[in-house]
Amino acid sequence: MSISFLDLNASHLEIKNELEDTYHRVMSSGNFILGDELDCFEKEFASYCGAKYCIGVGNGLDALKLTLDAYGIGIGDEVIVPSNTYIATWLAVTQTGAKPVPIEPDEKTYNIDPNLIEAAITKKTKGIIPVHLYGQPADMDPIMSLAERYDLKVIEDAAQAHGAYYKGVRTGSLAHAAGFSFYPGKNLGALGDGGAIVTNDDKIAAKLVKLRNYGQSVKYHHDYLGVNSRLDELQAAFLRVKLLKLDQWNQKRRKIAAHYLKLLHGSPITLPFIPSWADPVWHLFVIRTRQRDAIKDKLEVAGIKTMIHYPIPPHLQSAYLKMNLTRGSLKLTENIHKEVLSLPLYPSLEDNQIKIICDALQNSLE
Ligand SMILES: *Cc1c(COP(=O)(O)O)cnc(C)c1O
Repeated sequence: MSISFLDLNASHLEIKNELEDTYHRVMSSGNFILGDELDCFEKEFASYCGAKYCIGVGNGLDALKLTLDAYGIGIGDEVIVPSNTYIATWLAVTQTGAKPVPIEPDEKTYNIDPNLIEAAITKKTKGIIPVHLYGQPADMDPIMSLAERYDLKVIEDAAQAHGAYYKGVRTGSLAHAAGFSFYPGKNLGALGDGGAIVTNDDKIAAKLVKLRNYGQSVKYHHDYLGVNSRLDELQAAFLRVKLLKLDQWNQKRRKIAAHYLKLLHGSPITLPFIPSWADPVWHLFVIRTRQRDAIKDKLEVAGIKTMIHYPIPPHLQSAYLKMNLTRGSLKLTENIHKEVLSLPLYPSLEDNQIKIICDALQNSLE
């Protein structure tokens, strides 16, 4: 008996025929880049998020990076980012030439602590990238009011939170723009790489349509130094099929999370905390405990795969050595990285498997 961390196969089997039909439809259309499938997916996903525009790009990192470009953020600028995030949030800023300015999380939600942001704003600050980490929306209202006061652009990193709600509003329409990833393991994942920007901003949307495609307005007329980062037809078509299942799959994730919370209630570990204004989509189910490494090993022996999101925070990565953020400079983030463990959570996870995981977890606690 073993329980995997993720099971994409199970989800794909549910829609095997639709995916195969889609493959044949796109193959025989002869259109593989910037065609009808992408047009349709962009309309459908914008509408899903409650926003005006969606612009498909090559991946989630490009979605964030190109949005910063579109807002003219770059060399000499600063962008506020969470210290407790996947490195892509920081890399998007670094790639523009701007400087990421890390802010520690709220200890309960693991998301950026809005109370710490104002003190980090300088004359150079141009934007904030809150991350909806693990599928739970960041506390956006205080962030948006700071942005208004200091004239900053806010870009949601919604790579882990397709379909999550903050005070009844979907991620993707909570700020000036949002970057999504369709990496296969995300709540809405392609069968390869993919990403998108969602926004209500007409100007930025029009600029992004060009930036992703060599900065081109009309064929062979280039307005900007753009890149080649397009969501291809086949991936867009697969995503259209999977978007129809997203709410159902997110609902299953919510049920599984509720089941975990019930079975683990009272255990001497820190369970996920859900603020009243959040309706998360449980990209990950993350527990926190000082015995993290020992528990991970014991679960592994019991045939249960877990993961760590993430083992090393961005500021301690070799890639960011130059920023001179030494060990101890972002203490809470560093402690979180030492103590978090992600349990299996995916739509096909069965009740009896959840029970087995929780029993094994309880037994592994000393
Ligand atoms: C996955 C992810 C990204 C990057 O997405 P890619 O499609 O892999 O480039 C960015 N931010 C966060 C928080 C992510 O989890």
